[in-house]
Amino acid sequence: MSLKDARGRPLRDLRISVTDRCNFRCTYCMPREHFNGEHSFLPRKELLSYEEIADVVKSILPMGLRKLRLTGGEPLLRKNLVGLISLLRDLSDSIDIALTTNGALLKQNASSLYEAGLNRVTVSIDALDPDVFQAMADSTQWSPNDVIEGIMEAKRVGLGVKVNTVVKKNLNEDQILPLLNRFHELDVPLRFIEFMDVGNTNAWNLDDVVSGQDIRTKIESEHGQLTPVAPANRGEVAKRFTLPDGYEIGCIESVTAPFCGDCTRARLSANGSLYTCLFASKGNDLKTMLRMNATSDELSDAIQSIWEKRSDRYSEERSEHTESTRKVEMSFIGG
Ligand code: SAM
Ligand code: SF4
Ligand code: SF4
Repeated sequence: MSLKDARGRPLRDLRISVTDRCNFRCTYCMPREHFNGEHSFLPRKELLSYEEIADVVKSILPMGLRKLRLTGGEPLLRKNLVGLISLLRDLSDSIDIALTTNGALLKQNASSLYEAGLNRVTVSIDALDPDVFQAMADSTQWSPNDVIEGIMEAKRVGLGVKVNTVVKKNLNEDQILPLLNRFHELDVPLRFIEFMDVGNTNAWNLDDVVSGQDIRTKIESEHGQLTPVAPANRGEVAKRFTLPDGYEIGCIESVTAPFCGDCTRARLSANGSLYTCLFASKGNDLKTMLRMNATSDELSDAIQSIWEKRSDRYSEERSEHTESTRKVEMSFIGG
């Protein structure tokens, strides 16, 4: 059965947040002044159990779901994440299972994640320079080297690996070329992400956004002309390019070139609400249904009706009007 939303978009990808906690305090995501001792993180009993997450996935699979991405917060902080991956892999041999992580705990976990059935990891790193890394991630416990060791280990054990870098004006623009050179050497594709206005706490300002076009101009000034790569499938968020020697980079331009028309993603928050847009102000509670022992068919019907009503296109509508809307935090809903 192929399910379409009100704008004709299928439901292909599910991003699953397994925790709203994190061991970093990236200034653009969980600024320390907001995510401090006073912040109420979700209590344990509010989190969906792994069995409950698997029940949700099972009810969406027949609707054409192709990809799962485990995220957060920092997903590697959740105990026994490999247990969840095994449960999800048991539901389908063919579904693509990916993980987004800040990489701090990746080195010691890469092998068991792969053994459990994980296909790919996307690792976020915003700088090679330790001072700039610290200014972005606001973490004194981990260094860029820890993250790079995680990336190398993930590659070594057989996981597909990509790197994500958020670029913020006057903070890490000078890291674009060093990061590119380093990941080029390691043959790991790199994606640059425009700083987005997610949530309400990151003091987003259009002046702090470095556009994908400006990033490419900087890269071309050192490496020569980039060649665009045709999208492999509908819903691909990154515009991809190759350097003259074939190395691939991508730009995720949610601010300057929104891609809502092809957005096939839903998000399941750690406490079991289904969100149909990253910038939504509210989700659709599935946890109550799960805890009242809803059947798989009942869950499927509820999700189908949520998706059929979906008409979100926040990034295309970004304006003074939408700036004042209250949005869910990215660390809560899952990036
Ligand atoms: N903790 C994991 C990590 O950092 O990879 C997973 C969750 S994080 C919310 C997922 C992705 O969202 C990361 O690549 C992060 O850089 C990106 N992100 C967070 N806040 C952002 C913002 N304001 N603009 C653009 N990307 C953002
Ligand atoms: Fe944590 Fe990831 Fe957000 Fe950084 S981007 S604070 S690592 S959830
Ligand atoms: Fe999808 Fe919402 Fe992002 Fe548009 S703004 S691409 S609808 S998540």
